[in-house]
Amino acid sequence: MDQGGTDGGDGPFPRLPSGRVPQWVLDEAAGHPMQPLPWRAAPPPPPARRRRRGLRAGFRALVVLGLVLVLSIGAAVLVGPGPWPWSEATLDAAPAVPSAPATPTAPPDRPTAGREEARFPRGRPLEPPPEGGPHGFVAFQADGVTPVAYDPCRPVHYVLRPDGAPAGGEDVVRAAIARLSEVTGLQFIDDGASDEATTLDRPIFQPDRYGDRWAPVLIAWETEEQNPALAGDTVGQAGSVAVSLGEGPRVFVTGTVSLDAGRMPEILAFRDGAETARAIVLHELGHLVGLAHVEDAEQLMYPEARRGVPDFAPGDLTGLAVVGGGPCVPEL
Ligand SMILES: [Zn+2]
Repeated sequence: MDQGGTDGGDGPFPRLPSGRVPQWVLDEAAGHPMQPLPWRAAPPPPPARRRRRGLRAGFRALVVLGLVLVLSIGAAVLVGPGPWPWSEATLDAAPAVPSAPATPTAPPDRPTAGREEARFPRGRPLEPPPEGGPHGFVAFQADGVTPVAYDPCRPVHYVLRPDGAPAGGEDVVRAAIARLSEVTGLQFIDDGASDEATTLDRPIFQPDRYGDRWAPVLIAWETEEQNPALAGDTVGQAGSVAVSLGEGPRVFVTGTVSLDAGRMPEILAFRDGAETARAIVLHELGHLVGLAHVEDAEQLMYPEARRGVPDFAPGDLTGLAVVGGGPCVPEL
């Protein structure tokens, strides 16, 4: 859709119909593995200054990328068949799991091990550009070097919460997921709509709602009131939960993506709005699968969205190839 005072090309980013130059904060990488990570939004700059800067400097920042949801860091360690030994140190954003007596065959706090686990990865990551580029990860294995990733031998299920979705929003999300799947080799499966609310302590195993499997990734449209992290200029938030079994590798089993229901319609109304919105969602999905922010403004994982970076760039692709090649963990 081509609306508003658009100029296209390389000029200043199109203004809103009101004349205001858009500038949003997306999210912010959280990289503090063992600390409680509060929901927080970057403080927005004073409105007057923001507007002036946008007009003068043209397209300085279409979107400033703000908070990565924290869940990526909330690691839980499983030992044997019993309940998870949550501890103060690892609780973080991980959900509280009701304790129950250990039984040898049916742990009440997690699904049957190896659900949908294939013997080999279901896809292969896209070969990254030979020149590589800057990238980072939100969580690491015990060696401090190997990043945490989703298990490539099983599909990543996701549900979309339709509440508050802007027109065209669902198409944008699906296009972004298709791109993420193409790049990482991870297989994503759409489980349809959900009315589950996002919460900071979202249970990662919800058998009553989702059956005997890890809860699917939840993608939701939220307002600032529903998610304080989306206050100010923040327009998205995403992250995943990692678990491990004993000394085994940590692996992401589910996550959430929150998209700003209030701002996204504005973004979609611009010239190239769908592309911009897709870039925002791609950035969040990058966080979902384990990428952190980088300081290189040419990468999509830079904390501000830029007009010239509508898709994953070489550094992003390099990092995504790594998280697409994580270990298969049939024991979980
Ligand atoms: Zn971000």
